[in-house]
Amino acid sequence: MKIVVALGGNALGSNPLAQKELVKKTAVSLVNLIAAGQQLIIVHGNGPQVGMIKLAFQNQSLIDKSIPEMPFPECGAMSQGYIGYHLQNALKNELNKRKIKQEVSTVITQVIVDPADPAFKQPSKPIGAFYSQQEAANLKAEKGYQMREDAGRGYRRVVASPQPVDIVEKEIIKKLITSQQLVITCGGGGIPVIKENNILKGTAAVIDKDFASEKLAELVAADLLLILTAVDKVALNFGKPDQKWLDQLTIKEAEQYIKSGHFAPGSMLPKVKAAVQFVKHKKNNRALITSLAKAEQALAGKTGTSIINNN
Ligand code: ADP
Ligand code: MG
Repeated sequence: MKIVVALGGNALGSNPLAQKELVKKTAVSLVNLIAAGQQLIIVHGNGPQVGMIKLAFQNQSLIDKSIPEMPFPECGAMSQGYIGYHLQNALKNELNKRKIKQEVSTVITQVIVDPADPAFKQPSKPIGAFYSQQEAANLKAEKGYQMREDAGRGYRRVVASPQPVDIVEKEIIKKLITSQQLVITCGGGGIPVIKENNILKGTAAVIDKDFASEKLAELVAADLLLILTAVDKVALNFGKPDQKWLDQLTIKEAEQYIKSGHFAPGSMLPKVKAAVQFVKHKKNNRALITSLAKAEQALAGKTGTSIINNN
């Protein structure tokens, strides 16, 4: 089965040293699936990593004028590079250990977004440092940044979270998949680019990695979108006394529960939406939301939340 795997933050941890250790575990879980005959295409998140890179350059450029501020798309590219390296390293070691012959590579991936996407009118993702009200006003005037107060902690720049439209490197990704290579792609949802007069241009935005994974799964004609996160299943009334874990969700049920607000925006909501979108896209498409540790069991139908089309 061809599976696009979306790895959540808990597969990577929040700093480079912890990440280098944690990816070894991640690799064991993923190679278990490969050893069982599955073909994987791997996507990962990059929230803490891209935040750290952005902040490091921002803070250093304040005290040393020779250090430039790093634009956000470049920070995304850096995060794809070093997370890709960690995953490539851990996966290759695990494959070698089990004598599985498969090459592993990371594709630095640009994802096209639409400048007319309504998300650009309502930037919602805070990135980088915290500022005072005065600093925020200056940044807005000088650089045209959108600034917003963030939960009483100060002001931050906010960027849009547009939908992915297309993947620039899709043909390369398909070739690598066809030649049985293991590909890491669309890291952090991809580097958002806008196409104007046939020129691709990086833009400061954040594409949700769950939506990017869905787009990728469509483009490579995957059978399954496997979203691996910190919980084994999706719940109704999550965190409340009447919480109920779900084994299965039909598209109709999912859409109804989305409307009644069961899934938190920015965490579970994009996963359920991505799952619904993929299952709707083509007959026999399946989506599964579970934890990294339970991936194998979930594929065997023993746990996880399966999103199905019962029409
Ligand atoms: P990832 O890094 O994998 O994208 P997120 O933190 O963005 O992880 O999303 C997963 C989290 O969503 C879970 O750990 C859980 O705390 C939260 N969550 C919100 N609503 C639900 C729900 N209805 N069912 C299960 N988990 C939920
Ligand atoms: Mg998330």
